[in-house]
Formats: sequence, C-alpha cells, structure tokens
Amino acid sequence: MIDKAKRIVVKVGTSTLTYPNGRLNIRRISQLVRVLSDFKNSGKEIVLVTSGAIGVGTARLKLKERPKETRMKQAAAAVGQCELMYLYDKLFMEYGHVTAQILMTRIITDRDNTRQNLINTFDTLLSLGAVPIVNENDSVAVEEIECDDIAFGGNDTLSAVVATLVHADTLILLSDIEGLYDSDPHKNPNAKLIPCVEKIDDDLRSLAGGAGSALGTGGMVTKLDAAQAAMDAGISMVIMDGSKPAKLYDLFDGKPVGTLFSPSCGEK
Ligand code: GLU
Repeated sequence: MIDKAKRIVVKVGTSTLTYPNGRLNIRRISQLVRVLSDFKNSGKEIVLVTSGAIGVGTARLKLKERPKETRMKQAAAAVGQCELMYLYDKLFMEYGHVTAQILMTRIITDRDNTRQNLINTFDTLLSLGAVPIVNENDSVAVEEIECDDIAFGGNDTLSAVVATLVHADTLILLSDIEGLYDSDPHKNPNAKLIPCVEKIDDDLRSLAGGAGSALGTGGMVTKLDAAQAAMDAGISMVIMDGSKPAKLYDLFDGKPVGTLFSPSCGEK
C-alpha cells in the first residue's frame, strides 16, 4: 500500500530540523533532501511541509528563547523562513530539483475561489516537476488567539490540509518520536510502539499526551487530529522518527516503520 504511494506529503517538525538552540541541523536536512530527491528521481511526487521558521528566526536574531509575544514570533518567522528556504533550495538544486515556496493561511483554504486557485498552483507545480515547500504564513497568520480565525494552529494540521488539497496518497509526519506508543516512552521503558491504527477513538486519544518541544509546537494530540483528517480524506498517514531520514527507504520498501494510520491495517 505505502510502497505504491506516488504523491507524498512529508511534514517535518522544528525539533527534527534544528538543534535545541534553534540553529539548523544541516546534516539532518541534507539527509532528508537527499532521500526526497531520490524519491523524486524514482517517479514519486513530493510536497514538503516544513516547520522551523520561528525556531530558526529565533536563533538568527539571537533571541534568548522562542518569543512569546505575537509580533516577535511573526518577525522571527519572517527571518527564519528565508534561511530555511535558502537551504532547501540550495540542497534540492544540488540534486537537480526545483523548489517552490507556498505560504498558506486558513482564510485561503476556507474560501472556495482562493482554495481552488491554491489547488491549481499545487497541481501546476507538481506537473512541472517542482517540489512545493509549504509553511503557514506565520508573519501574517499566527497561532495566537487574536488571529485564530486565520491560522491553522500548527503544521500537523496544515500538513493534513495540504495532503487533502493535493489528493496525496500518503502523509508522513517526521517527528522527534518513533510513533504512537501504548504509554509514555519517556516515563515507561517498556512502552510499546503501536505499528498500525485503524480507528482513532477516545482510548487512543488518551494515550496522546500534550506537550511539544521548546522550539516547535504540536504534540501527539495534533498528530492524531491530522491522522483523523487524513483518514477522513482517504489518505493514509505515518508518524515516524525524523532523525534518520534514510528510514523513509524502509517505509517505502514496505517494512514496518513508525505508526501507520490506515483503515486497512491488515492489508499493509
Ligand atoms: N509554522 C511554524 C514555524 O515555521 C511551526 C508550527 C508548528 O511547528 O506546528 O515555525
């Protein structure tokens, strides 16, 4: 099933892309771009949803910590987004691939005409062989309360929206955890990874704690929301450890990696 996926949305989180001080983890990004470029060469279509703008901007502006004030976050995002795209573009170019930046706000996807325009842009970029690289337009729409109506509230949610818009076959969330566990692996050394989830119910939700990391947002709760949205749209989703991008090869070779969310686990 996953091995047959042709159009893939990959979401990568801040904690995967950066060191705890917010500076870009160049080795990790280089490995990720190399693997994604190889997938493209094999005929797959890739859309990358990337976090990291605020984290990277925080480091670039030499702020002591991720800002809490909305306008500081917006400013950090504007700075960090440039650095992120500069590196992605440089690395994808090394493998002969073209990148395209798409910064989204909820208001665009909520309105029929702007939503359709955005779908047209994605379709056109993919047909031209480009790699759309998507983030929320944090400098315009923020996760904070005052702009709730125009923000997606995190890139886990955004990635499921993007996967739906482009009719992806699979959504992959690269995270700082290997997948969904039956108890908190930070507290319980015997916690077991759940390889496949067919249905997201209250019992499963109770396994998902809250917290994200110091630089990014989101935790398991937002990932389960993304999984639900993806499955509702007929798209399978995988949560896997982003620290070893080469594991994506195992995933597409049909080996068990991370947690797969799919209504048909048996056919995996
Ligand atoms: N859009 C935010 C950023 O680029 C990240 C949001 C998230 O991690 O969910 O910093």
